[in-house]
Amino acid sequence: MATSIHVGVDLGGTKIEALALTRDGRELLRRRVATPSHSLEAIVAAVRDLVLGVEHELGSAATVGVATPGSLSPVRRVMRNSNTVVLNGAPLDELLAAALAREVRIANDANCFALSEATDGAGAGQGVVFGVILGTGTGGGVVVDGRPLVGANAIAGEWGHNPLPWGDGDDLPAPACYCGKRGCIETYLSGPALERDHRDRTGEALDARAIASRAQGGDAACAATLARYLRRLGKALASVVNVVDPDVIVLGGGVSNIEALYAGVVEPLAAHVFSDVLRTQVLRARHGDSSGVRGAAWLWGRARGE
Ligand SMILES: [Zn+2]
Repeated sequence: MATSIHVGVDLGGTKIEALALTRDGRELLRRRVATPSHSLEAIVAAVRDLVLGVEHELGSAATVGVATPGSLSPVRRVMRNSNTVVLNGAPLDELLAAALAREVRIANDANCFALSEATDGAGAGQGVVFGVILGTGTGGGVVVDGRPLVGANAIAGEWGHNPLPWGDGDDLPAPACYCGKRGCIETYLSGPALERDHRDRTGEALDARAIASRAQGGDAACAATLARYLRRLGKALASVVNVVDPDVIVLGGGVSNIEALYAGVVEPLAAHVFSDVLRTQVLRARHGDSSGVRGAAWLWGRARGE
């Protein structure tokens, strides 16, 4: 479709958000509705109505990209791994294409986050960008020269369910993960994991933000929790650097708002990268919570150099 407007849709478990972007990344219009998560048909209809409504308001046709947890299986072309469980097993791209009478591109929300930050965010202009979401869960996506790396199994960047590397006594016993395995990176680095770690050690129930601010204020137990988190983050990111060697690692999600992460992760990261130098920068996402929906819009964006 020859159009200069790209609509991104962030299809989350509680809300569906649509954002219209111009070709140069300017935000034209944003609309959101609650996700009718009980019904596949209702979700497809809600996405259709949002997109058609945005097009109507703008008086222009648009391309449509969708960010969602989980991904399309590369063989069966049906959704898998989504926490909006009615989507699992559904040929979501075909259903949306039929509802909207056009091709619709779908990608994992962490891949969309990485694409957004690589296109015009903290990783703009960089060759290899690893985007990490440290939120309710822990996801990742890789963008190379402005294009998302999908991979043969459409699982590239899905780093949260690798085991935490270089585990030491502090990291044991390995926590159980909802995926059925133990010791997944997500069980150490998600927001709930940080809070659980602090609670298990101290009996104190604090959210991630409170742990960080008390650590800064000199609370020894909170500082120790943050130090354990930084060491784990450094180790987990080092295993990525040793494989894809990104120019930039961009952090998003609720935990990424902890300012102390950015200076604090450098030492444990450098200590585990198999290199005499560490040139990889670890940066905070520029577009914050908007990166998923912006990256969905960029699924139809211009490639680098165009
Ligand atoms: Zn897992």
